[in-house]
Amino acid sequence: SDISFEYTEEPQRTAIETHHTTSKIQREIDLANALKQQQLALFYQPIVDVKSQAIVGCESLIRWIHPDRGMIPPDEFIGLAEDTGLIVPMGKWIIHEACKARNRFAEHIDNIYVSINLSPIQFESPSLVRDIESAFVSTGVKPNRIYLEITETTLMLDPLNVANILNDLKRLDAVIALDDFGTGYSSFSYLHRFPIDILKIDQSFVFTMQDNSRSKEIVRTLCSLATSLGMRTIAEGIERESDLHLLNSFAADFGQGYFIAKPMPEEDFVNFLKARS
Ligand code: C2E
Ligand code: MG
Ligand code: MG
Ligand code: MG
Repeated sequence: SDISFEYTEEPQRTAIETHHTTSKIQREIDLANALKQQQLALFYQPIVDVKSQAIVGCESLIRWIHPDRGMIPPDEFIGLAEDTGLIVPMGKWIIHEACKARNRFAEHIDNIYVSINLSPIQFESPSLVRDIESAFVSTGVKPNRIYLEITETTLMLDPLNVANILNDLKRLDAVIALDDFGTGYSSFSYLHRFPIDILKIDQSFVFTMQDNSRSKEIVRTLCSLATSLGMRTIAEGIERESDLHLLNSFAADFGQGYFIAKPMPEEDFVNFLKARS
């Protein structure tokens, strides 16, 4: 299964070339069909406890498995899905799939959580809270084992509306994580104006923290800031064992990255859980 981890993260040449030669309208049609024809799949990347290295959760990451173009990474189609509004039904599908998968993963690790990325556009949909609630009810998933990842862009969009939605989601008992923290218009006011439980430290700081003393101090400071505010931290982009050790010395809570494992298809992830539990 090591081989499958390799190919999955390598964007295929052909996908990139076709991307430029196919018209936008054609790509929109293709993407709408992809949802109908079940060409979308969720991959899962393990998240570990930094101290014990035990698996505590995973992040669901979408892939488009195109019949001709092969594996297409999300950065190549999420924008299009957002422009066309397709992200709303697609997001609904993602939420359902991730909740169902969480129940399957819990057969191997009792308390495992699954993270779901939410697009800012989904917050413009009046049915977001209802859609999430209905996924919780119909799958019977434990809501506090679902982490909803939002970005600073979402918080800036329409702060009052977003605060209301996040409060509703907290009432459902979901967990809110702020993704890619430090890369947007990072404002500390976000951290007290919105009900945020988890700070995800962006990989750009983690990649460079061993060679760049500023990155290192940023990571250290974000870890202690989060702890002081009663939030937990997830460090992204752990590519070396020594990253884990450094993060442990900063008392980071959780971490994910290629050193632990790349995102993988559900079947491989289940095997990974079996091997590690
Ligand atoms: P993200 O939510 O910040 O996800 C983390 C990205 O970093 C993933 O890329 C993951 O494969 C990659 N990554 C994890 N560890 C490492 C590492 O150690 N080194 C390196 N170089 N990369 C690492 P991916 O899967 O290509 O996703 C890219 C972005 O696409 C995500 O960033 C997220 O913003 C978006 N995305 C992915 N899945 C979804 C989804 O289901 N819904 C929405 N709305 N957006 C999604
Ligand atoms: Mg994320
Ligand atoms: Mg991120
Ligand atoms: Mg990102």
